[in-house]
Amino acid sequence: MSKAILPTYARTDISFVAGDGVHLRANTGEIYLDFGAGIAVNALGHNHPILVQAIQSQAASLMHVSNLYQIEGQERLARRLCAHSFADKVFFANSGAEANECAVKMARRYQAHKGCPERFRIITFSGAFHGRTLAMIAAGGQEKHLQGFGPKVDGFDQVPVGDIEALKNCIGPETAGFMIEPIQGEGGVNPIEPTFLLALRDLADKDDLVLIFDEVQTGVGRTGYFYAYQGVGVTPDILTSAKGLGGGFPIGACLATDKMAAPMVAGTHGSTFGGNPLAMAAANAVLDVVLEPGFLEQVQEKGLVFKQKLAGVIDEFPSVFELVRGQGLLLGIKMKVPPADMVGACFEEKLLVVPAGGDVVRLLPPLIATADDFDEAIASLERAAKRLVARQEELQI
Ligand SMILES: *Cc1c(COP(=O)(O)O)cnc(C)c1O
Repeated sequence: MSKAILPTYARTDISFVAGDGVHLRANTGEIYLDFGAGIAVNALGHNHPILVQAIQSQAASLMHVSNLYQIEGQERLARRLCAHSFADKVFFANSGAEANECAVKMARRYQAHKGCPERFRIITFSGAFHGRTLAMIAAGGQEKHLQGFGPKVDGFDQVPVGDIEALKNCIGPETAGFMIEPIQGEGGVNPIEPTFLLALRDLADKDDLVLIFDEVQTGVGRTGYFYAYQGVGVTPDILTSAKGLGGGFPIGACLATDKMAAPMVAGTHGSTFGGNPLAMAAANAVLDVVLEPGFLEQVQEKGLVFKQKLAGVIDEFPSVFELVRGQGLLLGIKMKVPPADMVGACFEEKLLVVPAGGDVVRLLPPLIATADDFDEAIASLERAAKRLVARQEELQI
């Protein structure tokens, strides 16, 4: 175990030395099927030739210049993100939490700029996850993330997700807007009811509040739509993107309408690394693949077939699994056994999956996974479930 790394992660005792598509090779030589994808990051799997080539050639020509200068790849990526979403303007950061910080700052500044500086509070929802900066642990509102880190950053109010009455009661003279994940990822793959998202949109319109969608996990094709809101038909004012956007290269983005972006003039926000040429080359390469005609439709189809097969496995092992939910290739299995046991049993079967809140195991395969890969995952899940059933039986005897 590591002596020099801050022990903030309970790490499995394995390291991976190489990747190839949906597979990872461990230091032991064993091959694992990666259905965690670095937590929804490796959208193109590992070592995708288009992504590798883009990063290699960009690194060889120009890796970093400051945002004091024009950056061609940045302009291109921003235009593409706008062309494929509601947005008019993009700010580039380096992570999901940073993109969310930009979103909250922008919402506050929008309110201040139009003459309501007292409107700075953002309403968030139970089960949310927005990242680990001081402000974003306040936004997420989870006690285990806040504990011991001093006073909670002010300006975040939380209401139970789906509760329109509680939401209405929470809106006050200091409310600037709402922030929500269209499908809560870390919270346990909880798809938010479209009617609730619609209610948020209506309430935002009524009082000129700002609707922020945190699409850090749901974005860039994960749900079978470029952004998940496009499948719901409720459009935010600000949207954040990260995880899959760089396919493994760190990048975050905050997308906004011109109306929201207008007060973010020179000097109001910044990032040394955000939008640097190397990150832009990576994300542009990811978009080259994800925006290829038919790619997103394929993710939808593969997601549906996989979900059906998962439902079959769940029926087979009713003492282990409860149900499957989610969209596209953001799927969660609600467990009847501790999720850590299932993650461990899958690991023994050389299948990598990711735990989430609410007794859920997440399946986040690379978007390029094929029918064979899904079949391999199903077979491994079945064997893992058999291990757990055998253990249950042992305990009963
Ligand atoms: C992962 C995640 C974040 C945080 O992203 P980082 O890159 O770890 O800062 C924020 N919001 C959602 C919905 C996420 O899934």
